[in-house]
Amino acid sequence: MMKALRKTAPGRGACLESVPVPSIAPSEVLVRVRAASICGTDIHIYDWDPWSASRVKPPLTFGHEFCGHIEKIGADVHGLAPGDFVSAEMHVNCGRCHICRIGQPHICQNVRIIGIDRDGCFAEFVAIPAANIWKIDPAIPENYAAILDPLGNAVHTVLAGAIAGCSVAVVGCGPIGLMSIAVAKACGCSTLCAIEINPHRLALAAQMGADLALNPGETDVVAAVREATAGTGVDVLLEMSGNPRAIQQGFQMLRAGGRASLLGIPSQPVTFDLVADIIFKGATVQGIYGRKMYETWVQMTALLKSRRLSLDPLFSERVSLDRFEEAFSLLHAGNAGKILLYPKT
Ligand code: ZN
Repeated sequence: MMKALRKTAPGRGACLESVPVPSIAPSEVLVRVRAASICGTDIHIYDWDPWSASRVKPPLTFGHEFCGHIEKIGADVHGLAPGDFVSAEMHVNCGRCHICRIGQPHICQNVRIIGIDRDGCFAEFVAIPAANIWKIDPAIPENYAAILDPLGNAVHTVLAGAIAGCSVAVVGCGPIGLMSIAVAKACGCSTLCAIEINPHRLALAAQMGADLALNPGETDVVAAVREATAGTGVDVLLEMSGNPRAIQQGFQMLRAGGRASLLGIPSQPVTFDLVADIIFKGATVQGIYGRKMYETWVQMTALLKSRRLSLDPLFSERVSLDRFEEAFSLLHAGNAGKILLYPKT
């Protein structure tokens, strides 16, 4: 038996339960979780918002950001061994659909996400398909290893087009927005403007390397970004907020011919001036989902090994899994960074 943080029934909250250690298929491995981290998606599941209610089928152990050591491997698994320090790509693609067959498994049309569609990592053990395991370079510390999933979102977004020498606006400075600032700086961007309404997060944006940290509640951010770019607008917009007004402002900051990479998820359809902000501008607009399998993981490892990417300001509390309620209430208050959960205390 093991400890697991479970959504046992529809509704708010979660239960710490004792459940059987997962069994593994011949192509899977069992990982003993060392540290897990809480994602915004986990907060949605905890709160049981309309998206969770439509997607998640309790009972479910949630959580999808983690690192740990392999405990056991299935009979058909090669190249991995008990004791290996690993994380995993938690989007499990089907390998058979048209999109997988044309080499874009990160947007597989039959994706199943570990921690959302099957039992995840807020537990002492998690079962993972061997193909999704990512062995962690020994140069990467445990706290960084636990957040490779969201860091991969940031790396995927920043490197979805040219970045070296480009001016950048990061709109929305939650954890992935903050990581994007550090990644864009490490990759040689020029002026980086961070836009965020929460003062605590805005201060973190400056610590992560933003040249300008702008609060749209206090400043005309479009004018400020234009001024910082000699009236032209930024080369690259990284949209991390999902907020309709912020998305509109972000596109107004983008220069003609610029690149907009959108990762933030609006909860409603967004009204948008397609003519002024995309068509006449000749803008390139990309949706960003997940991490490229496994190009993003290779890039992320290289960046971390280069030691040019510091995410230290992002980490806040480290708590045992038993204290999950405290962790979620800190996150609800809006001032916590990445909280690490430890199943084994
Ligand atoms: Zn597929």
